[in-house]
Amino acid sequence: MHALHRRLPTAAIVPDGASYALDSRLCISYFTIELRGAVPEQNRAEIGNHVFGCDICQDVCPWNGRSPISSEPAFAAEHFAPPLERLAQLTEQEFRGMFRSSPVRRARYSGFLRNVAVAMGNARAERFRVPLKRLADSADPIVAEHAHWALEQLD
Ligand code: SF4
Repeated sequence: MHALHRRLPTAAIVPDGASYALDSRLCISYFTIELRGAVPEQNRAEIGNHVFGCDICQDVCPWNGRSPISSEPAFAAEHFAPPLERLAQLTEQEFRGMFRSSPVRRARYSGFLRNVAVAMGNARAERFRVPLKRLADSADPIVAEHAHWALEQLD
């Protein structure tokens, strides 16, 4: 587990007696999917460019590594890494349409834009300044606050 620990993005998997437990308060999947409201500022940098979930622990799990790659169409990606600028521009209607049959809907529109803002802030790329300014003008206070935070990361 120690070697695996080094490949995990946060310290969410913690020793628990002779075993390990998942501290959801540090988990990127929790922050980007389940959490309603603001992501604590001290945890935003660790989220990196994840806009919905993380599951790196699934990728590095030795048990999963023995599983064959599925050719089952239901597991195929519908959208592969769309540009963050494009995601930041989605209207609520487009968000619903794009993720109609996807678990991404679970983040809800507000949470999704919040996550996109955090990812753009963590990227510290100047090309995100304009889309972030647009998000900073959002009527949704959570989206606006995260966009302001992200703009500060660019400065
Ligand atoms: S989903 Fe990511 S942050 Fe959460 S426990 Fe797995 S590797 Fe860690």
